[in-house]
Amino acid sequence: MRVAEGVDALELTMEFMGGPSVIHPTLIWDDHEALLVDAGMPGQLEALRQACERAGVPLQRLTRVIVTHQDLDHIGGLPALLAAVEGPVEVLAHADDRPYIEGERRPIKMDPARWAARLTELEPRRRAAIEALLADPPRARVDRTLADGERLPYCGGIRVIHTPGHTPGHLSLYLERSRTLIAGDALVSEDGVLQGPRPGVTLDMATALRSVGKLTGLDVERAVTYHGGLVERDVTTRLAEIAAGA
Ligand SMILES: [Zn+2]
Repeated sequence: MRVAEGVDALELTMEFMGGPSVIHPTLIWDDHEALLVDAGMPGQLEALRQACERAGVPLQRLTRVIVTHQDLDHIGGLPALLAAVEGPVEVLAHADDRPYIEGERRPIKMDPARWAARLTELEPRRRAAIEALLADPPRARVDRTLADGERLPYCGGIRVIHTPGHTPGHLSLYLERSRTLIAGDALVSEDGVLQGPRPGVTLDMATALRSVGKLTGLDVERAVTYHGGLVERDVTTRLAEIAAGA
């Protein structure tokens, strides 16, 4: 879905726990760069390729991938993506999530203990698939770490905002040219309305809400959440309400 000139919220359907759902990696481009924010689940390369084509940007144009955080639905597609693009692709992430993305540490939410009870409820094929992922979580190199407040000079300027809580190294991005907030999983949205971080998947809710507070000072016209997609209604109002605990 076109968000603004040179910005597209891709739509990928993922099958994981609790049936199919749609996730939204964001593609940002101009004449020089094509950046992807988050890379989807393992096995989604073809869907990602088609989504990029539909947005008018062939996958082979990709120059960088910014990973908002370490979770499976954000980095799972990264190894296959990096293998598929012929030119160099720089991978950027926050230092606090880097060891989990690179496989130096087990991704926090891929701890088998977190899954033990839920696995028993699954039918055998799905259970085996998740057990295989837990046994060998996807990993990918990170070429450059990003810090809070950094400004990337790509596609009109991208401001990096460290928004920990969902994970320690979660990043949100602010696209200066289109005044678009890419919120990753720091926020979700439902039916075009911004909602607070989901307690069930957020490691530290108090920190996550403080992180939303960091976003309230931005001149945001629209937001893209990874789960829920584009939000154009009352974005700054909802940010303030969510940060205040409303
Ligand atoms: Zn996540």
